[in-house]
Amino acid sequence: MKLILYVDMDCFFAACEEARHPELRGKPLITGTSPEETKLRGVVESANYEARKFGIHSAMPTSMAYKLKPDIIYMHSDEQYYENVSRHIMKALSNYGYRMEVDSVDEAALEIDVEDCAAAEKLAKEIKEKIKRQFNLPCTVGVSSGKIYAKMACDSAKPDGIMIVGKKDVGAFLKDKGIGKIPGVGRKTEEKLAAMGIKTIGDLSNTGPMALINAVGSFGKELFLIANGTDESGVEESSGAMSIGRERTLDKNAKEVVDIEETLDALAGEVIAEVKRQDLRFKNVGVKARYFDFTDRVKSRSLTGYSDSKEVILSNAKSLFKELFGDKPVRKIGVRVSSLISTRGQRRLV
Ligand SMILES: [Mg+2]
Repeated sequence: MKLILYVDMDCFFAACEEARHPELRGKPLITGTSPEETKLRGVVESANYEARKFGIHSAMPTSMAYKLKPDIIYMHSDEQYYENVSRHIMKALSNYGYRMEVDSVDEAALEIDVEDCAAAEKLAKEIKEKIKRQFNLPCTVGVSSGKIYAKMACDSAKPDGIMIVGKKDVGAFLKDKGIGKIPGVGRKTEEKLAAMGIKTIGDLSNTGPMALINAVGSFGKELFLIANGTDESGVEESSGAMSIGRERTLDKNAKEVVDIEETLDALAGEVIAEVKRQDLRFKNVGVKARYFDFTDRVKSRSLTGYSDSKEVILSNAKSLFKELFGDKPVRKIGVRVSSLISTRGQRRLV
């Protein structure tokens, strides 16, 4: 039977640091991208489970993490290293030969074809052990009939776990979960539905699709199908291309594009260096702004052809950022290229 197997690395960046600094293992640790001298301005990007015991989590201001645990170990994010580890992990996963979708730097979905759930569990164990042995990194694996359920099973089994939810068990698995557990359901959607008395996925499944569409738009139809166990989304190989990006917290909040020009130039330079190092070309440029209130906005654009030029990144990033600057000062910016192909043989990358 066809099932989706979802792999998600556990606190990936922090775990990467532990893997190369074994002396840090078992100690509370966070990674972030604060400017060196002003660590307090940054945001926690990844926190290991020891740090989470103190209430520290990713996306929290670094200053708050220091309040909760003054002697927390802070590691400056080494994106190049994490991307490199990620690439090797994805390669190891793709070697299984299944259709595969890379969801993010540390998540991937595989469309597996196995005899039964027991065989899926055996494969999940094997993958976990392989990643542990090869990279000394923990991960969690979820398996189910659709990608969304597999991801949710994975989230439920974290950390270092395995969960198999066979097709006939999906209903029971979903029923009592909060609607916020569905990937893509943010706080706003959650609030809107809660106002209609919909708190659990079970509640959601008992609501008519039209009422949901009226409440949250076209996403309502999708939610209805998900809640009723009919998500059979497979993996989409085409969106599996990796991306290469760099982010930096600014020394001073920026109000317009001219304030970020220098940082942008440095980030584009780092991105293009990595693109060239890997003999790649890109067809998509994206930017991200984190505002002073810690909300994020991203924008991206597809180019007419593949490129490996820093100027192309810069000119596109600048015009994209023009759309992101407004009333709110920006504290952190990111630049990313995606839709990558290798210049050696034009193969798509996983
Ligand atoms: Mg993860």
